Amino acid sequence: MIVPTGSTRVAGVIGDPVRHSLSPALHNAAFAELGLDWTYLAFEVPAGQGADAVAAMRVLGIDGLSVTMPHKDTVAAAVDELSPAAALLGAVNCVRREGDRLIGENTDGAGFLRSLRTQAAVDPAGLRTVVLGAGGAARAVIVALAADGALVTVVNRSPDAAARAAALGAAAGGAAAEASGGPSGSAIVGGAKAVRDADVVVNATPLGMTDGDPLPVDPALLSDGQLVVDLIYRPERTSLLEAAAEAGATTLNGVGMLLYQAAEQFTMWTGHDAPVDAMAAAVGLDLAGS
Ligand code: NAP
Repeated sequence: MIVPTGSTRVAGVIGDPVRHSLSPALHNAAFAELGLDWTYLAFEVPAGQGADAVAAMRVLGIDGLSVTMPHKDTVAAAVDELSPAAALLGAVNCVRREGDRLIGENTDGAGFLRSLRTQAAVDPAGLRTVVLGAGGAARAVIVALAADGALVTVVNRSPDAAARAAALGAAAGGAAAEASGGPSGSAIVGGAKAVRDADVVVNATPLGMTDGDPLPVDPALLSDGQLVVDLIYRPERTSLLEAAAEAGATTLNGVGMLLYQAAEQFTMWTGHDAPVDAMAAAVGLDLAGS
């Protein structure tokens, strides 16, 4: 381990609660693996003080910030510029520097797509996908899938939230197609039929985190030929993934998304490819065990 000196570069996470965060272990393992003179800390910042934390980042010369609950919205309003994904979502989970300017990013969607591509060898362009849920994680996944040309159906308990999330996805799909001339993604609200017909089903609700939770979807709708992804990573194997495997589907848990969203942040700050295996090992996560 490199002992910090006056020239050590500093990154960190702001949130509340934040003491349980895996981010310090993930990023410090990456710095150590590559021998970089950086360190990463957790800062407990109460609700309402996200903008103050961004001001502190400027004054203290902090080089990278991860942002978690409850600051993702307020930090989006406090930085100098937003990436397209962060602007669309109105939520920032990472701040990076460009000279004196602070840029707000959202790496959740990119982390999810990288997990799909590297762990499941799935390219979402043109695939029928269903996202269960319409909260923060769901919206990041919906926008990422639609921007990559997938057809996304949102299935959620609250119809209004589903409609708002689907509208974000439709905007992302249209904008991406216009910018690149590539495939056009779309997003709509749906139900059981969409799940039965889907190539990829993603659980972005918390159902499955706690023993005794009901399944987020009727397992009779799942079948072989489908990829079922659960964004939950603890437990590593949820009842949904058990049911999906029983139905013959391929399964993937949320460990990859967790790691790759951190890896994207690491690369934005340091310019280096992230040593993902060392990061996973540092927090006891099994990239192959989903
Ligand atoms: P969130 O913003 O609170 O959204 C939760 C969503 O789940 C909402 O759409 C909500 O529906 C739905 N929901 C909640 N309880 C439900 C229930 N009992 N029955 C049916 N639907 C229910 O949460 P989030 O931040 O998006 O997180 C969602 C999940 O993703 C969590 O399990 C979290 O651990 C996981 N996650 C994983 C990663 C990763 O890197 N792997 C990253 C972020 C999040 P309503 O709209 O009706 O309220």
